[in-house]
Amino acid sequence: MTTVGILGGGQLARMMALAGAPLGLRFLVMDNVADACAGQFAPMVVGDYTDEAALAEFASRVDVATFDFENVPAESAQWLTNRVPVFPKPRALATAQDRLAEKTLFRELDIPVPPFASIDTREQLDAAVAQIGTPCILKTRRLGYDGKGQFRIKTPADASAAWEALGAQAGKVGLILEGFVAFQRELSVVAVRARDGEFRAWPLTENWHVDGVLSASLAPATVDDAMAATAIGYARKLAEALDYVGVFALELFCRDGELLANELAPRVHNSGHWTIEGSETSQFQNHLRAVLGLPLGDTRMVGTACMLNWIGAMPEATAVLAESGGHWHDYGKQPREGRKVGHATLRADSATELAAALVRVGEALGREAQVMPVVLALRP
Ligand code: ATP
Ligand code: MG
Ligand code: MG
Repeated sequence: MTTVGILGGGQLARMMALAGAPLGLRFLVMDNVADACAGQFAPMVVGDYTDEAALAEFASRVDVATFDFENVPAESAQWLTNRVPVFPKPRALATAQDRLAEKTLFRELDIPVPPFASIDTREQLDAAVAQIGTPCILKTRRLGYDGKGQFRIKTPADASAAWEALGAQAGKVGLILEGFVAFQRELSVVAVRARDGEFRAWPLTENWHVDGVLSASLAPATVDDAMAATAIGYARKLAEALDYVGVFALELFCRDGELLANELAPRVHNSGHWTIEGSETSQFQNHLRAVLGLPLGDTRMVGTACMLNWIGAMPEATAVLAESGGHWHDYGKQPREGRKVGHATLRADSATELAAALVRVGEALGREAQVMPVVLALRP
Protein backbone atom coordinates (compact mmCIF):
# COMPACT_ATOMS: atom_id res chain seq x y z
CA MET A 1 0.00 0.00 0.00
CA THR A 2 1.49 3.31 -1.10
CA THR A 3 0.86 6.42 0.95
CA VAL A 4 1.20 9.82 -0.72
CA GLY A 5 1.92 12.71 1.62
CA ILE A 6 0.54 16.11 0.66
CA LEU A 7 1.80 19.31 2.23
CA GLY A 8 -1.23 21.56 2.36
CA GLY A 9 -4.75 20.26 2.92
CA GLY A 10 -6.96 22.48 0.79
CA GLN A 11 -9.21 21.62 -2.13
CA LEU A 12 -6.28 20.64 -4.34
CA ALA A 13 -5.18 17.98 -1.86
CA ARG A 14 -8.80 16.91 -1.49
CA MET A 15 -9.26 16.44 -5.25
CA MET A 16 -5.89 14.67 -5.44
CA ALA A 17 -7.02 12.20 -2.78
CA LEU A 18 -10.28 11.60 -4.64
CA ALA A 19 -8.38 11.02 -7.90
CA GLY A 20 -5.91 8.68 -6.22
CA ALA A 21 -8.48 6.40 -4.64
CA PRO A 22 -8.99 4.26 -7.80
CA LEU A 23 -5.23 3.76 -7.96
CA GLY A 24 -5.42 2.17 -4.52
CA LEU A 25 -3.45 4.98 -2.94
CA ARG A 26 -3.58 6.14 0.65
CA PHE A 27 -2.98 9.76 1.58
CA LEU A 28 -1.66 11.72 4.53
CA VAL A 29 -2.19 15.46 4.55
CA MET A 30 -0.24 18.00 6.57
CA ASP A 31 -1.75 21.40 7.22
CA ASN A 32 -1.43 24.08 9.85
CA VAL A 33 -5.18 24.16 10.45
CA ALA A 34 -7.14 21.18 11.77
CA ASP A 35 -10.26 21.80 9.67
CA ALA A 36 -8.47 21.81 6.27
CA CYS A 37 -10.99 20.39 3.77
CA ALA A 38 -8.77 17.51 2.53
CA GLY A 39 -8.94 16.20 6.09
CA GLN A 40 -12.49 15.02 5.32
CA PHE A 41 -10.96 12.35 3.05
CA ALA A 42 -7.48 11.71 4.39
CA PRO A 43 -5.79 11.42 7.77
CA MET A 44 -3.97 14.57 8.80
CA VAL A 45 -0.92 15.77 10.61
CA VAL A 46 -1.66 19.22 11.99
CA GLY A 47 1.38 21.40 12.40
CA ASP A 48 3.32 24.32 11.16
CA TYR A 49 5.33 23.64 7.99
CA THR A 50 8.49 24.67 9.83
CA ASP A 51 7.83 22.41 12.83
CA GLU A 52 10.43 19.64 12.62
CA ALA A 53 8.52 17.26 14.87
CA ALA A 54 5.39 17.54 12.71
CA LEU A 55 7.41 17.21 9.50
CA ALA A 56 9.24 14.17 10.90
CA GLU A 57 5.96 12.47 11.78
CA PHE A 58 4.61 13.27 8.31
CA ALA A 59 7.76 11.92 6.61
CA SER A 60 7.74 8.72 8.67
CA ARG A 61 4.23 7.85 7.49
CA VAL A 62 4.49 8.48 3.73
CA ASP A 63 6.26 6.91 0.73
CA VAL A 64 6.44 10.06 -1.35
CA ALA A 65 5.60 13.71 -0.68
CA THR A 66 4.08 16.43 -2.82
CA PHE A 67 2.33 19.78 -2.39
CA ASP A 68 -1.09 21.31 -2.69
CA PHE A 69 0.32 24.59 -1.42
CA GLU A 70 3.18 26.33 -3.18
CA ASN A 71 4.30 28.44 -0.25
CA VAL A 72 5.62 25.62 1.91
CA PRO A 73 9.04 26.95 3.02
CA ALA A 74 11.63 25.64 0.56
CA GLU A 75 13.87 24.73 3.52
CA SER A 76 11.13 22.46 4.90
CA ALA A 77 10.77 20.79 1.51
CA GLN A 78 14.55 20.39 1.35
CA TRP A 79 14.60 18.94 4.88
CA LEU A 80 12.01 16.35 3.82
CA THR A 81 14.08 15.19 0.83
CA ASN A 82 16.56 13.57 3.22
CA ARG A 83 13.78 11.34 4.49
CA VAL A 84 11.39 10.74 1.59
CA PRO A 85 11.27 11.46 -2.18
CA VAL A 86 9.70 14.89 -2.75
CA PHE A 87 8.16 15.97 -6.09
CA PRO A 88 8.31 18.58 -7.54
CA LYS A 89 11.88 18.96 -6.31
CA PRO A 90 12.52 21.76 -3.82
CA ARG A 91 14.67 23.70 -6.33
CA ALA A 92 11.75 23.98 -8.77
CA LEU A 93 9.49 24.96 -5.90
CA ALA A 94 11.96 27.63 -4.72
CA THR A 95 12.09 29.23 -8.16
CA ALA A 96 8.32 29.28 -8.55
CA GLN A 97 7.89 30.75 -5.05
CA ASP A 98 9.78 33.90 -5.94
CA ARG A 99 8.34 36.10 -8.69
CA LEU A 100 11.76 37.66 -9.28
CA ALA A 101 13.58 34.32 -9.69
CA GLU A 102 10.71 33.02 -11.81
CA LYS A 103 10.66 36.00 -14.20
CA THR A 104 14.45 35.97 -14.42
CA LEU A 105 14.31 32.32 -15.48
CA PHE A 106 11.58 33.05 -18.04
CA ARG A 107 13.82 35.71 -19.55
CA GLU A 108 16.87 33.41 -19.58
CA LEU A 109 14.81 30.86 -21.49
CA ASP A 110 13.64 33.46 -24.05
CA ILE A 111 10.08 33.29 -22.77
CA PRO A 112 8.70 36.84 -23.15
CA VAL A 113 7.73 38.61 -19.91
CA PRO A 114 6.32 42.04 -19.06
CA PRO A 115 9.00 44.53 -17.97
CA PHE A 116 9.86 44.06 -14.27
CA ALA A 117 12.18 45.40 -11.59
CA SER A 118 13.18 44.27 -8.13
CA ILE A 119 12.14 46.81 -5.47
CA ASP A 120 13.72 47.18 -2.04
CA THR A 121 13.29 50.88 -1.32
CA ARG A 122 10.91 53.74 -1.99
CA GLU A 123 13.55 55.39 -4.22
CA GLN A 124 13.80 52.23 -6.33
CA LEU A 125 10.01 52.18 -6.64
CA ASP A 126 9.90 55.75 -7.97
CA ALA A 127 12.75 55.06 -10.39
CA ALA A 128 11.13 51.84 -11.62
CA VAL A 129 7.70 53.46 -12.03
CA ALA A 130 9.36 56.13 -14.16
CA GLN A 131 11.25 53.55 -16.20
CA ILE A 132 8.50 50.93 -16.68
CA GLY A 133 5.74 53.55 -16.94
CA THR A 134 2.13 53.40 -15.75
CA PRO A 135 -0.06 51.51 -15.38
CA CYS A 136 2.04 48.97 -13.48
CA ILE A 137 1.61 46.57 -10.56
CA LEU A 138 3.62 46.30 -7.37
CA LYS A 139 3.58 42.73 -6.05
CA THR A 140 5.16 40.88 -3.18
CA ARG A 141 7.81 38.52 -4.53
CA ARG A 142 6.67 35.71 -2.26
CA LEU A 143 3.52 34.35 -0.61
CA GLY A 144 0.95 36.04 -2.88
CA TYR A 145 -2.05 34.12 -4.19
CA ASP A 146 -5.49 34.99 -5.57
CA GLY A 147 -4.25 38.51 -6.31
CA LYS A 148 -3.31 39.16 -2.66
CA GLY A 149 -0.19 41.23 -1.98
CA GLN A 150 -0.63 43.35 -5.13
CA PHE A 151 -1.20 47.05 -5.67
CA ARG A 152 -2.12 48.56 -9.02
CA ILE A 153 -0.37 51.83 -9.80
CA LYS A 154 -2.43 53.76 -12.34
CA THR A 155 -0.48 57.04 -12.27
CA PRO A 156 2.93 57.91 -10.77
CA ALA A 157 1.06 59.64 -7.91
CA ASP A 158 -0.18 56.18 -6.77
CA ALA A 159 3.37 55.15 -5.86
CA SER A 160 2.98 56.58 -2.34
CA ALA A 161 -0.18 54.58 -1.69
CA ALA A 162 1.48 51.47 -3.13
CA TRP A 163 4.47 51.90 -0.85
CA GLU A 164 2.17 52.48 2.10
CA ALA A 165 0.31 49.26 1.32
CA LEU A 166 3.28 47.02 0.56
CA GLY A 167 6.48 48.85 1.56
CA ALA A 168 6.63 47.04 4.91
CA GLN A 169 6.90 43.78 2.94
CA ALA A 170 10.05 44.93 1.12
CA GLY A 171 12.38 43.72 3.86
CA LYS A 172 10.37 40.52 4.49
CA VAL A 173 9.26 38.88 1.27
CA GLY A 174 10.67 41.39 -1.24
CA LEU A 175 8.78 43.34 -3.90
CA ILE A 176 8.65 43.37 -7.67
CA LEU A 177 7.21 45.99 -9.98
CA GLU A 178 5.70 44.75 -13.24
CA GLY A 179 4.40 46.57 -16.26
CA PHE A 180 0.63 46.21 -16.59
CA VAL A 181 -0.23 44.15 -19.66
CA ALA A 182 -3.33 45.34 -21.54
CA PHE A 183 -4.10 41.79 -22.59
CA GLN A 184 -7.05 40.60 -24.67
CA ARG A 185 -6.90 37.12 -23.18
CA GLU A 186 -5.46 35.24 -20.25
CA LEU A 187 -4.34 31.71 -20.99
CA SER A 188 -2.76 28.90 -19.06
CA VAL A 189 -0.90 25.79 -19.99
CA VAL A 190 -1.53 22.96 -17.57
CA ALA A 191 1.10 20.31 -18.15
CA VAL A 192 2.73 17.32 -16.54
CA ARG A 193 6.27 15.98 -16.61
CA ALA A 194 7.11 12.47 -15.47
CA ARG A 195 10.14 11.34 -13.49
CA ASP A 196 11.67 10.04 -16.74
CA GLY A 197 11.15 13.38 -18.50
CA GLU A 198 8.07 12.49 -20.51
CA PHE A 199 6.03 15.67 -21.02
CA ARG A 200 2.33 16.10 -21.77
CA ALA A 201 0.13 19.18 -21.85
CA TRP A 202 -3.63 19.52 -21.80
CA PRO A 203 -5.22 21.70 -24.46
CA LEU A 204 -4.70 25.40 -23.72
CA THR A 205 -7.12 26.95 -21.22
CA GLU A 206 -8.56 30.47 -21.38
CA ASN A 207 -9.16 32.17 -18.04
CA TRP A 208 -11.17 35.09 -16.68
CA HIS A 209 -10.27 36.71 -13.36
CA VAL A 210 -12.36 39.03 -11.21
CA ASP A 211 -10.41 41.12 -8.68
CA GLY A 212 -7.34 38.95 -9.26
CA VAL A 213 -9.21 35.70 -8.52
CA LEU A 214 -10.01 33.08 -11.17
CA SER A 215 -13.69 33.21 -12.07
CA ALA A 216 -14.03 30.99 -15.16
CA SER A 217 -11.91 28.74 -17.38
CA LEU A 218 -12.65 27.48 -20.89
CA ALA A 219 -10.94 24.63 -22.70
CA PRO A 220 -9.87 24.50 -25.39
CA ALA A 221 -8.98 28.21 -25.44
CA THR A 222 -10.12 30.17 -28.48
CA VAL A 223 -6.64 30.55 -29.97
CA ASP A 224 -5.11 29.15 -33.13
CA ASP A 225 -2.94 26.05 -33.17
CA ALA A 226 0.29 28.00 -33.69
CA MET A 227 -0.26 30.04 -30.53
CA ALA A 228 -1.21 26.95 -28.56
CA ALA A 229 1.97 25.25 -29.75
CA THR A 230 4.09 28.27 -28.74
CA ALA A 231 2.52 28.32 -25.27
CA ILE A 232 3.02 24.60 -24.77
CA GLY A 233 6.60 24.97 -26.04
CA TYR A 234 7.29 27.55 -23.31
CA ALA A 235 5.85 25.22 -20.68
CA ARG A 236 8.01 22.37 -21.89
CA LYS A 237 11.17 24.48 -21.88
CA LEU A 238 10.48 25.57 -18.32
CA ALA A 239 9.72 22.06 -17.09
CA GLU A 240 12.95 20.80 -18.59
CA ALA A 241 15.03 23.68 -17.19
CA LEU A 242 13.64 23.01 -13.70
CA ASP A 243 13.77 19.20 -14.07
CA TYR A 244 10.16 19.47 -12.97
CA VAL A 245 8.20 16.38 -11.91
CA GLY A 246 4.41 16.58 -11.57
CA VAL A 247 1.68 18.89 -12.81
CA PHE A 248 2.20 22.63 -13.09
CA ALA A 249 0.52 25.60 -14.75
CA LEU A 250 2.10 28.38 -16.74
CA GLU A 251 -0.07 31.51 -16.75
CA LEU A 252 0.20 33.66 -19.87
CA PHE A 253 -1.15 36.96 -21.08
CA CYS A 254 -2.06 37.24 -24.76
CA ARG A 255 -1.69 40.77 -26.11
CA ASP A 256 -2.02 41.53 -29.82
CA GLY A 257 -1.08 38.02 -30.78
CA GLU A 258 1.94 37.94 -28.48
CA LEU A 259 2.29 35.74 -25.40
CA LEU A 260 3.83 37.07 -22.18
CA ALA A 261 4.46 34.82 -19.18
CA ASN A 262 2.90 35.84 -15.86
CA GLU A 263 3.73 33.07 -13.42
CA LEU A 264 4.40 29.40 -12.91
CA ALA A 265 2.27 27.55 -10.38
CA PRO A 266 4.23 24.50 -9.17
CA ARG A 267 1.20 22.33 -8.48
CA VAL A 268 -2.13 21.24 -9.83
CA HIS A 269 -3.98 24.41 -10.75
CA ASN A 270 -7.45 25.90 -10.57
CA SER A 271 -7.43 26.45 -14.35
CA GLY A 272 -7.02 22.67 -14.75
CA HIS A 273 -10.06 21.61 -12.71
CA TRP A 274 -12.04 21.09 -15.91
CA THR A 275 -9.74 18.11 -16.68
CA ILE A 276 -11.61 16.02 -14.08
CA GLU A 277 -14.53 15.56 -16.46
CA GLY A 278 -13.24 17.19 -19.64
CA SER A 279 -10.15 15.11 -20.29
CA GLU A 280 -9.22 11.46 -20.64
CA THR A 281 -6.97 11.86 -17.57
CA SER A 282 -7.39 14.58 -14.95
CA GLN A 283 -4.56 16.80 -13.76
CA PHE A 284 -4.92 15.25 -10.30
CA GLN A 285 -4.54 11.69 -11.51
CA ASN A 286 -1.61 12.61 -13.78
CA HIS A 287 0.14 14.47 -10.98
CA LEU A 288 -0.03 11.32 -8.86
CA ARG A 289 1.14 9.16 -11.74
CA ALA A 290 4.10 11.51 -12.29
CA VAL A 291 5.25 11.64 -8.69
CA LEU A 292 4.87 7.88 -8.31
CA GLY A 293 6.76 7.07 -11.52
CA LEU A 294 3.69 5.50 -13.17
CA PRO A 295 2.90 5.90 -16.89
CA LEU A 296 1.19 9.22 -17.65
CA GLY A 297 -2.39 9.21 -18.87
CA ASP A 298 -3.62 10.75 -22.10
CA THR A 299 -4.35 14.48 -21.81
CA ARG A 300 -6.73 14.74 -24.74
CA MET A 301 -10.07 16.46 -24.22
CA VAL A 302 -13.48 14.93 -24.31
CA GLY A 303 -15.53 17.64 -26.03
CA THR A 304 -15.31 21.17 -24.68
CA ALA A 305 -15.52 22.33 -21.08
CA CYS A 306 -16.01 25.37 -18.90
CA MET A 307 -15.28 25.60 -15.20
CA LEU A 308 -16.99 28.18 -13.00
CA ASN A 309 -15.48 28.98 -9.60
CA TRP A 310 -17.70 29.46 -6.58
CA ILE A 311 -16.22 32.14 -4.37
CA GLY A 312 -17.44 33.00 -0.88
CA ALA A 313 -20.43 30.65 -0.66
CA MET A 314 -21.84 27.72 -2.65
CA PRO A 315 -24.79 28.47 -4.93
CA GLU A 316 -27.74 26.12 -5.35
CA ALA A 317 -26.60 23.00 -7.24
CA THR A 318 -29.79 22.07 -9.07
CA ALA A 319 -29.30 24.14 -12.26
CA VAL A 320 -25.87 22.60 -12.87
CA LEU A 321 -26.94 19.07 -11.99
CA ALA A 322 -29.86 19.39 -14.43
CA GLU A 323 -27.42 19.83 -17.33
CA SER A 324 -26.39 16.65 -19.15
CA GLY A 325 -22.74 17.73 -18.90
CA GLY A 326 -23.02 19.41 -15.51
CA HIS A 327 -20.66 18.45 -12.69
CA TRP A 328 -20.61 19.77 -9.14
CA HIS A 329 -17.70 20.12 -6.74
CA ASP A 330 -18.35 21.29 -3.19
CA TYR A 331 -15.10 21.47 -1.24
CA GLY A 332 -16.84 21.14 2.13
CA LYS A 333 -15.50 24.48 3.33
CA GLN A 334 -17.08 27.08 5.59
CA PRO A 335 -18.32 30.09 3.59
CA ARG A 336 -16.03 33.10 3.81
CA GLU A 337 -15.74 36.20 1.67
CA GLY A 338 -13.23 35.73 -1.15
CA ARG A 339 -12.70 32.04 -0.36
CA LYS A 340 -12.80 29.39 -3.11
CA VAL A 341 -15.48 27.03 -1.78
CA GLY A 342 -16.28 24.96 -4.87
CA HIS A 343 -16.63 24.88 -8.62
CA ALA A 344 -18.81 23.50 -11.39
CA THR A 345 -17.73 22.11 -14.74
CA LEU A 346 -20.02 22.12 -17.74
CA ARG A 347 -18.98 19.78 -20.51
CA ALA A 348 -20.51 19.57 -23.97
CA ASP A 349 -19.78 18.05 -27.36
CA SER A 350 -19.77 21.40 -29.15
CA ALA A 351 -19.12 25.08 -28.45
CA THR A 352 -22.73 25.94 -29.28
CA GLU A 353 -24.10 23.44 -26.76
CA LEU A 354 -21.65 24.60 -24.12
CA ALA A 355 -22.65 28.25 -24.64
CA ALA A 356 -26.34 27.33 -24.34
CA ALA A 357 -25.72 25.43 -21.09
CA LEU A 358 -23.73 28.36 -19.70
CA VAL A 359 -26.55 30.79 -20.50
CA ARG A 360 -29.08 28.51 -18.73
CA VAL A 361 -26.90 28.10 -15.66
CA GLY A 362 -25.97 31.79 -15.54
CA GLU A 363 -29.64 32.81 -15.61
CA ALA A 364 -30.76 30.21 -13.08
CA LEU A 365 -28.06 31.24 -10.61
CA GLY A 366 -28.16 34.97 -11.30
CA ARG A 367 -24.57 34.75 -12.46
CA GLU A 368 -24.93 36.17 -15.96
CA ALA A 369 -21.86 38.37 -15.48
CA GLN A 370 -19.72 35.35 -14.63
CA VAL A 371 -20.74 33.25 -17.66
CA MET A 372 -21.04 36.07 -20.21
CA PRO A 373 -17.36 36.47 -21.16
CA VAL A 374 -17.14 32.73 -21.79
CA VAL A 375 -20.33 32.74 -23.87
CA LEU A 376 -18.91 35.59 -25.97
CA ALA A 377 -15.62 33.74 -26.45
CA LEU A 378 -17.55 30.68 -27.67
CA ARG A 379 -19.31 32.62 -30.44
CA PRO A 380 -18.19 31.48 -33.85
P1 ATP B 1 -2.82 33.04 -8.46
O1 ATP B 1 -1.58 32.38 -7.96
O2 ATP B 1 -4.03 32.79 -7.63
O3 ATP B 1 -3.04 32.88 -9.95
P2 ATP B 1 -1.44 35.52 -7.82
O4 ATP B 1 -1.82 36.16 -6.54
O5 ATP B 1 -0.16 34.78 -7.88
O6 ATP B 1 -2.64 34.62 -8.32
P3 ATP B 1 -1.11 36.87 -10.37
O7 ATP B 1 -1.34 35.68 -11.17
O8 ATP B 1 0.22 37.53 -10.45
O9 ATP B 1 -1.48 36.70 -8.84
O10 ATP B 1 -2.21 37.99 -10.69
C1 ATP B 1 -3.61 37.69 -10.59
C2 ATP B 1 -4.30 38.31 -11.78
O11 ATP B 1 -4.11 39.74 -11.80
C3 ATP B 1 -3.76 37.85 -13.11
O12 ATP B 1 -4.31 36.60 -13.48
C4 ATP B 1 -4.21 39.01 -14.00
O13 ATP B 1 -5.59 38.96 -14.26
C5 ATP B 1 -3.92 40.20 -13.13
N1 ATP B 1 -2.51 40.64 -13.33
C6 ATP B 1 -1.44 40.29 -12.61
N2 ATP B 1 -0.31 40.81 -13.10
C7 ATP B 1 -0.65 41.54 -14.18
C8 ATP B 1 0.07 42.33 -15.14
N3 ATP B 1 1.39 42.51 -15.06
N4 ATP B 1 -0.66 42.92 -16.13
C9 ATP B 1 -2.01 42.76 -16.22
N5 ATP B 1 -2.73 42.05 -15.35
C10 ATP B 1 -2.09 41.43 -14.34
MG1 MG C 1 0.33 32.86 -8.12
MG1 MG D 1 -1.75 33.82 -11.14
